[in-house]
Amino acid sequence: MSTPIIIACAITGSVPRKKDNPAVPTQPEEQVESTHAAYEAGASLVHIHVRNDDESSSSDQTRFGKVMEGVRKHCPGMIVQFSTGGRGRDPKARGDCLSLRPDMASLATGSCNFPSIIYENPVELIYELAEKMIQYDVKPEIEAFDLSMIYKAHAMAGEGALKRPLYIQYVMAIKNAMPARRQALEFMISETKDLEPDAQWVAAGIGRYQRVVNDWCAELGGHIRTGLEDNVRYDKDRLAAGNHELVQLAVEIAAKHGRRPATCAEAREILSLRPAA
Ligand code: ZN
Repeated sequence: MSTPIIIACAITGSVPRKKDNPAVPTQPEEQVESTHAAYEAGASLVHIHVRNDDESSSSDQTRFGKVMEGVRKHCPGMIVQFSTGGRGRDPKARGDCLSLRPDMASLATGSCNFPSIIYENPVELIYELAEKMIQYDVKPEIEAFDLSMIYKAHAMAGEGALKRPLYIQYVMAIKNAMPARRQALEFMISETKDLEPDAQWVAAGIGRYQRVVNDWCAELGGHIRTGLEDNVRYDKDRLAAGNHELVQLAVEIAAKHGRRPATCAEAREILSLRPAA
């Protein structure tokens, strides 16, 4: 049997609203509940954004803290990952959540175009966030929205601005950024292996590409990211019933390739994280 597969669930994100799928959890209590269902279904990592009462993006530490506390209580061992992502957030506040010491946080190592905005990650901001992650012992998940971001992460690891081993996520099928092309994924994996032999990787596919990319990840030896942040539908005919249903689907896809979901303890070991508190 090959390496157990870490199933990450991105429960909320900054884009989908209740009007897109009423199952999108936007308030801390529902976020904890939705994470718990995903955990029971096989997720070992939760990627968290928080929202204001009106569902707009927030950087509020209290909200991040509430979700983390609930997840730690109800989902023992699960890896808590906060988003430092930019959509709809004041750049200066994007790192505020790091002092709460989640296990991990996302870190985009470059800028690119998104469907309707420029996703701005100036070099100074990237280093500032990376430095805070070292300060608070938070492992970054490198978000590679295009190829250059892999090389930037590698350079930063060489400078000591990022700790090895790296964990890299290739984000595919965001309009105006990188498409979901298997050749592109395979090239990024081979570059990663060449430059950062100890790195682990995962890929995300947006919308209908979630399922396709999940399948490539399971087949090519990576981990899986799913969840309503990236895709609110189960298939073309209906919405997903919740994050748990997308995790169940990921488990089925992994099984097709002879892989089983990692337990939380295994996921921590694979990612060189500290054991659960
Ligand atoms: Zn996110």
